[in-house]
Amino acid sequence: MPLLLIHEFTHICVDNEIQKRKRPHLAKERIVSRICSEILEFDDHNSVGDKSLDMFLSKENLSSDFLGTLNSIADHLKINQAQIKAHASRNK
Ligand SMILES: [Zn+2]
Repeated sequence: MPLLLIHEFTHICVDNEIQKRKRPHLAKERIVSRICSEILEFDDHNSVGDKSLDMFLSKENLSSDFLGTLNSIADHLKINQAQIKAHASRNK
């Protein structure tokens, strides 16, 4: 089966849960990419998405607690955004 199809099927399966947490496009792509490579063992186009999220997206995390993993990523990105905002307002 072509990788692109696997990738798109994976989107269909997980996008709803990701969307609920309003994650940016690059985060969504990385989550899908890691499910393909770590769980389905298809080497997805690994340059796609936000690689800084890989520390959350291990095979173990994805398979044992997928929703918990999405929540950890949501928290991580929230903290990052807060730091970026704080930094921007200091430099006004
Ligand atoms: Zn995609």
